[in-house]
Amino acid sequence: MRIRHLNCGTLRPIGTAAMVCHVLLLESDDGLTLVDTGFGLRDVADPRGRLGRSLITAVRPDLDESETAIAQIAALGFEPRDVTDIVMTHLDSDHSGGIDDFPAARLHVNARELADADAQPGPSPAVRYRPWRRSTRPAHVQSYDRFPDSWFGLPATTLATHGDDLAFVTLPGHTSGHMGVAVRDGDGWLLHCGDAFYHRGGVSGGGVAMTMRFAQAASARHPRIARQTRRRLADLHDHASDTVRLVCAHDAVQYDRARG
Ligand SMILES: [Zn+2]
Repeated sequence: MRIRHLNCGTLRPIGTAAMVCHVLLLESDDGLTLVDTGFGLRDVADPRGRLGRSLITAVRPDLDESETAIAQIAALGFEPRDVTDIVMTHLDSDHSGGIDDFPAARLHVNARELADADAQPGPSPAVRYRPWRRSTRPAHVQSYDRFPDSWFGLPATTLATHGDDLAFVTLPGHTSGHMGVAVRDGDGWLLHCGDAFYHRGGVSGGGVAMTMRFAQAASARHPRIARQTRRRLADLHDHASDTVRLVCAHDAVQYDRARG
């Protein structure tokens, strides 16, 4: 499985360095799989309608068509229909906006996340899940509510479509049904942690700016559970870093390193 790293949405919140929407594009003999989508064409065409003013003010996204997954996939020489599957860490706007660009793909999502997104819960309903609520639902949605496996001690499941190359790993807190996506990478694993942390320092013990810590806490649906999840990831970072590489969705430095 070949792993490509795409930035599908540059964010420029005031007071911090630019951030990315780190998306994985997995290429196998069976087709392409996206892990998250970042922003999509409909977000670029109608930012206010799709994303809402509060999100745009908070993260100030570039919303450049060339950053959408569909544009980058075309630039690589693929067709949109080559994307057979999309695996979601969660359904927040900056992760799910591109789903509409791949209506034929199977969507894999945590069942609780799906229910919450449809029910509009959360501390900031004006921000959370807007594109999903305005989307044309994909024809095939596979939701998961059982996690019988253990992936480095975390409850997880495999996806019927991807065998042992991929694990869907529970990382709750940011949202109730927030997940990580572990992809086999050579002899080890790459774990896309979505928004389980915002900055590499959140799991490595390095400094995390106050503004970032505040944003992380303010955006978590369950702050206490989110802290527990970060501690589990920090433990993985400390004890399994020779086997597991952690990336989050928005850290531009991690993204650049991953591409390098
Ligand atoms: Zn996010």
